[in-house]
Amino acid sequence: MVLCPPLHQYLKNLYGSPTMMVVNGTKETLVSAEGTTQGCNLAMDFYRIGIMKLIHMLKEQVPDCRNSWYADDSTGAGKAIAVKEWWEALQKYGPKMGYFPQPEKTILIIKDPTKQDFFKSLFPGIKVTAEGHRYLGSFIGTKKSTESYVATKVEEWVQDIKDISTAASSEPQLAYAGFYFGITKKWNYLLRTTPDIATLLEPIERVIVDNLLPAITGITPVSETLRDTFALSPKNGGLGIVNPVTIADSEYRFSTIINRDLVDAILENKCEEFNPDSQFILKAKKECKAMKTKMEEDRKFHLLNTSSASLRRQIALLSEKGASSWLSTLPLKNCGFVLSKQQFQDGLRLRYNIPLEGVSLECACGKSNSIDHALICKLGGYTHLRHNHLRDTLFNLLDVVCKDVVKEPQLLPVTNEHLPRGTTLKQDARLDISCRGFYSALDKICILILSTVLILSTLLLYK
Ligand SMILES: [Zn+2]
Repeated sequence: MVLCPPLHQYLKNLYGSPTMMVVNGTKETLVSAEGTTQGCNLAMDFYRIGIMKLIHMLKEQVPDCRNSWYADDSTGAGKAIAVKEWWEALQKYGPKMGYFPQPEKTILIIKDPTKQDFFKSLFPGIKVTAEGHRYLGSFIGTKKSTESYVATKVEEWVQDIKDISTAASSEPQLAYAGFYFGITKKWNYLLRTTPDIATLLEPIERVIVDNLLPAITGITPVSETLRDTFALSPKNGGLGIVNPVTIADSEYRFSTIINRDLVDAILENKCEEFNPDSQFILKAKKECKAMKTKMEEDRKFHLLNTSSASLRRQIALLSEKGASSWLSTLPLKNCGFVLSKQQFQDGLRLRYNIPLEGVSLECACGKSNSIDHALICKLGGYTHLRHNHLRDTLFNLLDVVCKDVVKEPQLLPVTNEHLPRGTTLKQDARLDISCRGFYSALDKICILILSTVLILSTLLLYK
């Protein structure tokens, strides 16, 4: 029986005859007739279809033993007699199909610790435990052993965070990206597969607050309100550095909702007929995403109700579209996205309106100095520099795609026109940029750039 006709034809063409392999540095060749080529994209599917025959056979021989497979990890569960029959059948039929079960790598998890000796004699050569054992990145066993397994993993991750905090003291942006895109994903799987572990994750949260956040942001100590703000996603004004303790239970709940069909199929021993209901999964994913969004909105709402007016204003501004793109962008050197320690940490201070360090309390113009004042003070010409930089960047981009692009075009002299109040009437008035073909082929538009603040510059387009 061909399980997957299109793949069958492809594999037949690819592996139907032995592959010639040239021995490096010689003209000699070897004929490879076994297994798949290293790095072959279809190797996993090839294996999966190849092993199906053995799975079907085991199911037929021992229908009472629930069995599930993940790649070459085979698992059987049920009453002792069924598992014994399944293990014997696996040893009998497996090698004929290239699957060699290894007793020394096999673990038998039993419920009753007093029957350990009995099971050892029933399954010779296999390690028998009543405590439990790691299984596919999670743990099956007693509560105590599960907690001890989670504690070991937490210890590893705490060390990872300490290491990344050390790196953050010189490269905070890279450390932030490493944490945001990498380390957090490590414990996500455990949260989704192991219930009731929230309190065990507290050491992770402690090291985040004590080591990571001060190293990345340069702010010490991090107040409770600021910690809660950083836990929000960047699009909601945070940094996306979540507190694993608060999300552990919901992550597990969402995972069980989305995978309900698969869990039922494993429990009912119907994996080979399992046909995932894609509509149900899609709907469940949508529902979980909505619940997650609601939970984050609740946290944000609580924060907005309890924080200072200044932080409230910042969170509202940072929730604007695009205001956090610089944070969630990968620091790629080739694209010029890498920020120095000072640029990154000052960027974060500006983001949360926290006074910059090492800055005079009084501006050279005589007024009191603050972030807001620094952005509008005309002394030194920085407002013009920002304006011109934005104008030149836009000019260069428009010059590629539009026609008749002119920088600072002179406006027509005002004669007797009735213009709205506030219109500049000077004879040499200029705009920033004009170009043709922006909206349609011959239309001319004029662009005025208002860069009153550093990050949020506004473009006004006149058609
Ligand atoms: Zn000033």
